[in-house]
Amino acid sequence: MLHISKESVRSLVPAFLDDETLVAVLEALNRAYRAGDPWVSDAEYDHVWRAELEDRNPEHPFLHRVEPEPQELFSGPLVHHSQRMLSTDKAYDSDKLSRFFARCEKASVQLGWAEKPMYQVQAKLDGLSGRLYPGRVLATRGDDGRHGRNISHALERGLTIIGGVEEGAGEIVVVEDYFQSVLAPKGYEHPRNFMVGFCGADNPSADHREAAAAGVAHFVAYRTLPAPTFTAEWLLAEIDTIFAEITGACPYRTDGIVISAMGTRLRDYMGATDHHHRWQIAFKKNIEGVRAVATSVVLQTGRTGVVTPVVHIEPVQLPGATVRKASGHNAAKLEEDGIGPGAVLRIVRSGEVIPTIVGVEEPSAHPVAFTHCPSCGTELVTDGRFRRCPATNTCPAQASGGIHYFFQTLYTAKGFGKKICAALAAAEKSIPAILQMQAEDFVAIGISPGVAANLADAIATAKQTPVPAARFVAALGIPHVGEASAAKLLSVFGSIPALIDEAEPNRIASIPEFGEITGSAIAEYIEEHRAELQEMLAAGIPLATTTQSTGPLAGEVLVFTGTFSRPRPELEALAREAGATVLSSVSRKTTRLFVGEKPGETKVRKAEQLGIPQATEADFPL
Ligand SMILES: [Zn+2]
Repeated sequence: MLHISKESVRSLVPAFLDDETLVAVLEALNRAYRAGDPWVSDAEYDHVWRAELEDRNPEHPFLHRVEPEPQELFSGPLVHHSQRMLSTDKAYDSDKLSRFFARCEKASVQLGWAEKPMYQVQAKLDGLSGRLYPGRVLATRGDDGRHGRNISHALERGLTIIGGVEEGAGEIVVVEDYFQSVLAPKGYEHPRNFMVGFCGADNPSADHREAAAAGVAHFVAYRTLPAPTFTAEWLLAEIDTIFAEITGACPYRTDGIVISAMGTRLRDYMGATDHHHRWQIAFKKNIEGVRAVATSVVLQTGRTGVVTPVVHIEPVQLPGATVRKASGHNAAKLEEDGIGPGAVLRIVRSGEVIPTIVGVEEPSAHPVAFTHCPSCGTELVTDGRFRRCPATNTCPAQASGGIHYFFQTLYTAKGFGKKICAALAAAEKSIPAILQMQAEDFVAIGISPGVAANLADAIATAKQTPVPAARFVAALGIPHVGEASAAKLLSVFGSIPALIDEAEPNRIASIPEFGEITGSAIAEYIEEHRAELQEMLAAGIPLATTTQSTGPLAGEVLVFTGTFSRPRPELEALAREAGATVLSSVSRKTTRLFVGEKPGETKVRKAEQLGIPQATEADFPL
């Protein structure tokens, strides 16, 4: 693994990195952004780095996580969010925006609406997101959008709540005029950075105190922002004007606009992914591109059968790197734009990097046609903007992609890279069969003895390393099911066998955040692949017994003191099974102290000092 730093990132070409390194770079960029010192612009992050992973593997687990925030900056007690705080999906061009509107309209038709949906548009504030609760409790969004850190001290420091709201999700920001006239001359690079410091664990600086005294540090609940409404047609025709008016009228730094379909029924029906609400999208301004000439387009079939294009270009020499290929978007986009040999493209640069096509200056005389699967030769079918190879059970590329995804997601067996997985797929090995293979079986399909021995060792290790049940379910490759949604499914169905046996559309659609479309897709996949899924479950991967992320005490850090009606070890074991971490001493990380008879004085006093909530046995939920 190469060293990833602010400097080294600028010489990397996303398209040339393997998946693991690409994700490591994304994680590093994320940390830098959340810490208030971004290494690249937001547009470069989304359009260059994240887009590369989206193109390669739209269902990579990384893409379905809410971006984490730096824990070291906020050390207050954990706060459980009453509703999960999600990220927002993003669009940089009218193509992606049109597809968003089409999805909303399709859903409204399915609901029997006679009118097309309307959309409200708000400024996208570029600050620190958080949620306010009654009693002036303020919390950050947190790593997963479920548990944030208590930063109520920011209110005591003079953070002003705009509009007198008592609760709701919003953004912590500083007035942009003040930032430009007072803070920027002092060397502050970004208002978000300043507000992260304002809410952080360290004592506030003189600059923070002055901003508080000037009344310019604000918590703005999203629902208090102006929200004019438009039709989809109006938005598409006037997006530049609407963008300029809404961001121009906003007194804070913005990084785009947020477009939300209106109507509670429509929102409930469309649901959410692990990452974002399906009824909402952020629109951001495109970034400049450079010219490049396409030489050829290579098609690749992924594990779900979707065929994605990689555009090879005449080498473009830039300081530090020669770039020879760029990621296309999807079949429909490439065909519409007439991309093929000889097309003149505009490609987004990130520092010295050129990876993604953002425009076409001259179409090709021989645009690429998506007709047959590059792996198995089957005629492709149209699936919205994509072309898909329908040979689900026989296509080597899909089998290879599925094997690779399984081991990559499982994470306990190393060494199953793309070439090895392609060799296994070519030999028609299923995942359960692979898990029974010995070194000589790998040699028999043409893998060198040294590598074969490593693979056999990796399988032996995987069979002794328990994985969380939710991760195992994610590894099965069910559409729309990443680790977080797997945990939700398991909390409803109770176990993996029950999920495989009993999945049906209505039951999944009734789980909050899934929606009917996703619920049906998941249930249909499970119904069609029931036997294979059961075989994978029986293939010898051990599951961790705790239900860490799903129990009624998930995420809690508990301490018990004193005697209770039941033996304390029994209560502690129950709490662990229900997802809590049980520790013996009180710290800032403790979420609740359970106090019995004759409690330890030190623990109680420490909890009082730190403001940790105390509870009695009557509050214990098990
Ligand atoms: Zn195929």
